[in-house]
Amino acid sequence: MASQTTKFKLNTGAEVPAIGFGTWQDKEAQEPAVTIALKEAIDTSTRRELGAAIKKSGVPREEIFITAKLWNNNHHPDDVEKALDASLKDLGVEYVDLYLMHWPSPFARGDSSFPKGDDGKTKVGDTDYVDTYKAMEKCYKSGKTKAIGVSNFSKAELERLLKETSVVPAAHQVELHPWLQQHDFAEWHKSKGIHVTQYSPFGNQNESYSGGQGMGKLMDDPVLVEVGKKYGKTGAQTALAWGIAHGRSVIPKSKTESRIKANLEGDFKLEPEDVKKIDGIDKKLRFNDPSGSFGWNFYADLDGKKA
Ligand code: NAP
Repeated sequence: MASQTTKFKLNTGAEVPAIGFGTWQDKEAQEPAVTIALKEAIDTSTRRELGAAIKKSGVPREEIFITAKLWNNNHHPDDVEKALDASLKDLGVEYVDLYLMHWPSPFARGDSSFPKGDDGKTKVGDTDYVDTYKAMEKCYKSGKTKAIGVSNFSKAELERLLKETSVVPAAHQVELHPWLQQHDFAEWHKSKGIHVTQYSPFGNQNESYSGGQGMGKLMDDPVLVEVGKKYGKTGAQTALAWGIAHGRSVIPKSKTESRIKANLEGDFKLEPEDVKKIDGIDKKLRFNDPSGSFGWNFYADLDGKKA
């Protein structure tokens, strides 16, 4: 089955590729990995390596879709633009295509990404994410980012954001995969014109998610493997195609050249009957919930939230 290069339209009118390239973790492997993936979209948390790879590649800036994220210690409205400027400098670009608030939860202001109090616990901040977002709206209006959005918001948090701010987020980056489908929540985004990007599209493959150990890999789920066979694809590729069939972008992460290439071939068309089969394997299993360490009760109204 030939792969496609699907693109989705954001509410800004810009197009985002269906398959992006996640760059979280594996710092030392990023420059080579990004170089392999550069013709696709890039989702970045570590910037210098990406900047170096962009420069080396010679790929024109307008052909790359770069998403940057605002980290929790920079939520104060006076820090938001400065943080974006730092990202732009490291990346060596004039603008990013999408700027996301990584989490709704603020940490204490300052240089430390994980500020700790004397008790060893995360020092949280007191900035309201609505105020943070309003500062992001200014970055959007100035052109330093072509779109703004959020990540890891609950439905109630997003509803409040929509009510109290003026730019509808172009995208919401959330944990979403065949074992955590969040069907209603995903559909709700469509009704609001918010594009959904699936992070951790292979679920428990992320080594830091202790909850996923000892239960087998999502990409080996028999339904994914069986459906994939029909198209000459792997379970991993089929998991990506399923997200794309639902109109969402997916950002698999890999530092392995063969896997990066294979993942890019996860953009292929599944028959509706096969999409339906995969719709049937939801386990409401969420692997990423740092509520305990971030001092914030994430995903309170969403599937997969443990009591
Ligand atoms: P993932 O993409 O679901 O899984 C990554 C893991 O799968 C890595 O261990 C990788 O191994 C392995 N892998 C990748 N392709 C494979 C293939 N074809 N066959 C077998 N194994 C494969 O998980 P993720 O890293 O959690 O999520 C992806 C991206 O989402 C991140 O890089 C980040 O950009 C984003 N993310 C965002 C948030 C957020 O809060 N917004 C949170 C988590 C992640 P190798 O690298 O060793 O090949």
